[in-house]
Amino acid sequence: MELSHIEHIGIAVKDLKQTIKYYEDVLGLKCYAIEEVKDQRVKTAFFMLGQTKIELLESTDKEGPIGKFIEKKGEGIHHLAFAVNGINSALVELKEKGIQLVDQNPRKGAEGLDIAFLHPKSTHGVLTELCENKNK
Ligand code: ZN
Repeated sequence: MELSHIEHIGIAVKDLKQTIKYYEDVLGLKCYAIEEVKDQRVKTAFFMLGQTKIELLESTDKEGPIGKFIEKKGEGIHHLAFAVNGINSALVELKEKGIQLVDQNPRKGAEGLDIAFLHPKSTHGVLTELCENKNK
């Protein structure tokens, strides 16, 4: 498997607007995109820092994955996303190595990336996302 960099860090937040204000006014980053991912029941806001993005996630549905996460754990880091070259073969390899996959096949995530999640049970506690930008 060939990982190239940390694509983004996903952070669950209660209020996207207020959190964007913190990232812009306090940390001095610039939000360059806001996008709703209906499938995941979230609204996302993106910041770029070097090659890595910060992805803020606000739930649009209490019963969605981020809604449930916030209810259980509160705001905070939700997942870590690696950029991978060849997401399909990476998933095959991970499966062979006994890693529990949340997504058996890649699906479309924010920004049109192909993404797949690995279960935190097999990744030592970190919900891990693989992303590949096939539009590049
Ligand atoms: Zn993500």
